[in-house]
Amino acid sequence: MTSYRFATVPRDGERIGFSNGKLNVPDTPIIPFIEGDGTGPDIWRASRRVFDAAVQRIFAGKRRVAWMEVFAGEKAFKAHNDWLPQETVDAMQEFRVSIKGPLTTPVGGGIRSLNVTLRQVLDLYACIRPVRYFEGVGAPVKEPGKVDVVIFRENIEDVYAGIEWKAGSEEARRVRDFIVDTMGKNIREGSAIGIKPMSEFGSKRLVDMAIRYALRTGRQSVTLVHKGNIMKFTEGAFRDWGYEVAKERYGEHVISEADLGKISGSAKVDCLVIKDRIADAMFQQLLLRPSEYSVIATPNLNGDYLSDAAAAQVGGLGMAPGGNVGDGLACFEATHGTAPKYAGQDKVNPCSVILSGVMMFEYLEWDDVGRLIVKGIEHAIKSRRVTYDLARQMPGSTEVSTSAFADAIIAGMA
Ligand code: NAP
Repeated sequence: MTSYRFATVPRDGERIGFSNGKLNVPDTPIIPFIEGDGTGPDIWRASRRVFDAAVQRIFAGKRRVAWMEVFAGEKAFKAHNDWLPQETVDAMQEFRVSIKGPLTTPVGGGIRSLNVTLRQVLDLYACIRPVRYFEGVGAPVKEPGKVDVVIFRENIEDVYAGIEWKAGSEEARRVRDFIVDTMGKNIREGSAIGIKPMSEFGSKRLVDMAIRYALRTGRQSVTLVHKGNIMKFTEGAFRDWGYEVAKERYGEHVISEADLGKISGSAKVDCLVIKDRIADAMFQQLLLRPSEYSVIATPNLNGDYLSDAAAAQVGGLGMAPGGNVGDGLACFEATHGTAPKYAGQDKVNPCSVILSGVMMFEYLEWDDVGRLIVKGIEHAIKSRRVTYDLARQMPGSTEVSTSAFADAIIAGMA
């Protein structure tokens, strides 16, 4: 067991185990959490109250979460002069399931993204972002209820791997010289250079997880979203590997959209349809024909863009949860960032993190807790006392604070 200098391991909690591909969840699992920067602390305080109230209501004290605060970002830097103490990574590994608020990443220079580092170091290779509509929330499209997609975004590779060199640097010059001199490709002198690695292994395990999820939950289709018409050997290969993994590992349980067009009859209904779309076209498809899409598997950058855009269709980032998932290890977090202009104002919508918690409880197989929290959110929205982001899209509603919205959610769980 790691010894912790900054964090305190709760004495009354137990570690989550993992054997034969399954989590073993004790009655009092230790769950590390990172509050996050900017609006993170406001949202976390509200979310934690909702989580504890739901667990108490379902299990009446027989089970509960032993929360363990671990440090990263501005709080860690201020207190310990370290943006991401190693023990934080160790805790997320040792206790297997964690939840975090957003962390600041400077644009251009400064530190590398702590979020990306955590995903890479812990090999949390799938970023799962479900996007669904809650009745009553104002939305910019006519039929937001038709949006119900779960996006599986590859989380480790692609341009997010962070392999890039600054314009004018010695490294960029050497990489350029190598490419120009030995590979016969032209790059303008003095350019910044980034590398986009995408592997068969990384792409296949991501698509595999998306297909397994779709089959387990009875979803209709998995769409591979790529830009393979232009980036043929990276994004194009992602598509090809996706079809391959579907055919090799799931045989008669899946059918490609192309093959579906060739047959008729009952076979159509029983199979999961695998299709693909080019990324730019997909943004239009999700707006105009959302009901044709169910599970999406896509490389890192496409998934980042697509999930914010999809969230906007159902009312915005305040309602957008996520989970970074590997094999027997997961860290849940909202899709959005720190929203720094609202920091400390008790203002923003906590549902992003609360719904990330719902995903976490489903991962722990405490499904009743997740269902109760969703019921609470539905009631709170029905009461039309909501945070500013929802209030501005819901005429006649009353704007309430982050903490008051959490109170309404807890009241709605009764
Ligand atoms: P952002 O924090 O996601 O915020 C963009 C806008 O989204 C906000 O101004 C607000 O819109 C809306 N929003 C975000 N969270 C909301 C919530 N809980 N409730 C209601 N509305 C919400 O994006 P950003 O300002 O571009 O990024 C800020 C920092 O976060 C950057 O340092 C970035 O690197 C970091 N970031 C971290 C993560 C992560 O930790 N995983 C993810 C993304 C970004 P309105 O202005 O319309 O009110």
